[in-house]
Amino acid sequence: MPDTSLEIAIVGGGINGLCIAWVLAEQAHQVTLFERDQLMSQTSSASTKLLHGGLRYLETGQIRLVREALRERAWWLAQVPSLTQPLALYLPVYAASARAAWRIRTGLWLYDRLAGKTNIAPHARLDRAGFIAQAPELRPAGLRGGFRFFDGQMDDLALGLWVADQARQAGARLLEGAAVSRVSTSGMVTFNGETRHFDRVINVAGPWAEALLQQSGLRSRCRLELIRGSHILFDEPLDHGYCLQAPQDSRVFFVIPYQGRTLVGTTEERHNAQDWPPACHESEAHYLLTAYNAHFRRAKSVADIAASFAGVRPLVRSAAHPSKLSRDYTLERHDRLITVFGGKWTTTRALAHSVARWIL
Ligand SMILES: Cc1cc2nc3c(=O)[nH]c(=O)nc-3n(C[C@H](O)[C@H](O)[C@H](O)COP(=O)(O)OP(=O)(O)OC[C@H]3O[C@@H](n4cnc5c(N)ncnc54)[C@H](O)[C@@H]3O)c2cc1C
Repeated sequence: MPDTSLEIAIVGGGINGLCIAWVLAEQAHQVTLFERDQLMSQTSSASTKLLHGGLRYLETGQIRLVREALRERAWWLAQVPSLTQPLALYLPVYAASARAAWRIRTGLWLYDRLAGKTNIAPHARLDRAGFIAQAPELRPAGLRGGFRFFDGQMDDLALGLWVADQARQAGARLLEGAAVSRVSTSGMVTFNGETRHFDRVINVAGPWAEALLQQSGLRSRCRLELIRGSHILFDEPLDHGYCLQAPQDSRVFFVIPYQGRTLVGTTEERHNAQDWPPACHESEAHYLLTAYNAHFRRAKSVADIAASFAGVRPLVRSAAHPSKLSRDYTLERHDRLITVFGGKWTTTRALAHSVARWIL
């Protein structure tokens, strides 16, 4: 074991905690991860299942985040092909679209450039006839044509458990049913009534990261905004995905094939921390149905919703509207304690490597 090997506690067994455990255990640190429930049981298994750069983040100028996410997308697709796959996404342009075709084309051109050599395939522009031929499920009224581009798709739960296996094989101890009630800046961790000392403590409790600091009597300069995202599923297979604009508010939403079903999501609603576990509210199901029916020829009703689920994004408070809040992560250090705020599933490895650099 190298001289620099540290005893490290990680609080939170979502994708970010697991990936940090994997990276640090590979660097020969002695890692113990505390998860209150089961590994991967919260936000990380309630995602839209996309390994993506986040085309729409280009609208808010988040170039660094998109470049990093595109690089990470390529890594997951190459390293774990059994649980990931490329996904073709169709993006229609209507006469009444809020985003002009030239703007979308510029965004897709930049998206391809930022992916560089790791790009799955360059985007294609389709005229009206070509678009209808490839995406016959969509309503043709007012359609001018559109674009096809690629992103990645994953089984988020299975992929997270794969990361947990890598972490275990590298030597990390992963404890489930181990709720941490208090952490300290000097490296103390209290769980199940017992207190232990560590060289470093990493608070990566996702939506609960700020609450853990508060219950430990610690102040933070970061504030988390809890934003619920809901999805509905139809029991109907779909050949490829769609990146669409909701007519109600021009927000981007996705309709994608997932495990033989059609997944529609997501919403962005401010979430009350007491409202747990998060669930898809009736108003959100209606929002998603209305948005879906505005685009697809075969309209769906509430009776067609086979299942629904919701997760809560822990986003760093930075803007007035949920859509404008950054999906990037922020690290905060209090002596031996490091807290992770925010972050995306796709970029979890990049986050883990940043934490590993901070550790030293
Ligand atoms: C609706 C939605 C859709 C999304 N879609 C995508 C997508 O398609 N692609 C993408 O890249 N990203 C997506 N994201 C973002 C991504 O899912 C999250 O950023 C990521 O899952 C956060 O992981 P985490 O490990 O930080 O949090 P979590 O998965 O919530 O893990 C935190 C863990 O900490 C545990 N914990 C909390 N308090 C304690 C305590 N005191 N003691 C012990 N354990 C504790 C919890 O039980 C939990 O398991 C989406 C997010 C949402 C909400």
